[in-house]
Amino acid sequence: MKPPPFAYAKPSDLAEALRLKADHGDAGTFIAGGQSLMATLNMRLSAPDILIDVGAIGELAGIEISGGRVRIGALTRYRELEDSELIASHAPLIARAIAQVGHPAIRNRGTIGGSIAFADPAAELPACILALDGEVEIAGPDGRRKVAAGDFFKGLYDTDLGPGEVITAVEFAGDSPEWRTGFDELARRQGDYAMAGLAARLRIDGGKVAEARLVYFAVGATPVLAPLAGAKLAGSTLGNEAIEAAAAALDGDLDPFDDLHCSAAMKLHLARELTRRVLTEMAGGAA
Ligand SMILES: Cc1cc2nc3c(=O)[nH]c(=O)nc-3n(C[C@H](O)[C@H](O)[C@H](O)COP(=O)(O)OP(=O)(O)OC[C@H]3O[C@@H](n4cnc5c(N)ncnc54)[C@H](O)[C@@H]3O)c2cc1C
Repeated sequence: MKPPPFAYAKPSDLAEALRLKADHGDAGTFIAGGQSLMATLNMRLSAPDILIDVGAIGELAGIEISGGRVRIGALTRYRELEDSELIASHAPLIARAIAQVGHPAIRNRGTIGGSIAFADPAAELPACILALDGEVEIAGPDGRRKVAAGDFFKGLYDTDLGPGEVITAVEFAGDSPEWRTGFDELARRQGDYAMAGLAARLRIDGGKVAEARLVYFAVGATPVLAPLAGAKLAGSTLGNEAIEAAAAALDGDLDPFDDLHCSAAMKLHLARELTRRVLTEMAGGAA
């Protein structure tokens, strides 16, 4: 199926993009990599009058490390993250997750800003940003603001983005020796959306877990931080007993629903298995 007709604009600065969006309101839609949007247009799930392409706005590009914080511009493509030495050394969780995002053709075009804005519950990067306790940087008609990832993902494909707002970047604390990260997902085939996934970040102090952020994806309407499972790890040396207790505690943290890929019961089972796999690997000290 072909998309309905639309006009197209490619502003070269943010002010112009925001002005176009304000002029057109709901009839104007931002496009970045197009990897989700074009599919929804082709299926006629949306029919904007105009696409506002943010791809030429230099301010949205680039990866920077400053004061121990990693800042990734919204326009950064998955491929750039995959190839970036800065990401490999300062954000190993992202480096690990990115290889699981779709297929190479998707990673050549798709952007981190598009992924965060689209907020697919099975997407890898929203879960990573939440595990990293990151912030989403936003610009809009009322100026600029930052929102904690924990407050950004509101529901199924629903975020804190207001009318006329655009994501400019994501930001989070860079890797440091006291933190360990781990990631895994289970999908039917390499490149498919996950049936269940886990992005984990643990702070280790004196050989014991001081803080645990276990974030599951594809098991709810948003990425889900699991505080009960995390509490079972606190104070432990990440032995089998603590890992099994965390896996068992997921009953209280997760409330998955059936989707096209598998049942809710299967998702819970997969989330438990991922907990064992990821934490056991992290217990071995892998970043
Ligand atoms: C076959 C296939 C397999 C895929 N597999 C996966 C997968 O395994 N994991 C995964 O995470 N994703 C997967 N995707 C989706 C892919 O990651 C998309 O690239 C991503 O969801 C959207 O990024 P984009 O840059 O392409 O955004 P676009 O498609 O251009 O836009 C998506 C939405 O975000 C909005 N938007 C884009 N950028 C901004 C911004 N800066 N500020 C505000 N709003 C913005 C747009 O208006 C639109 O509503 C897959 C896609 C396909 C087609």
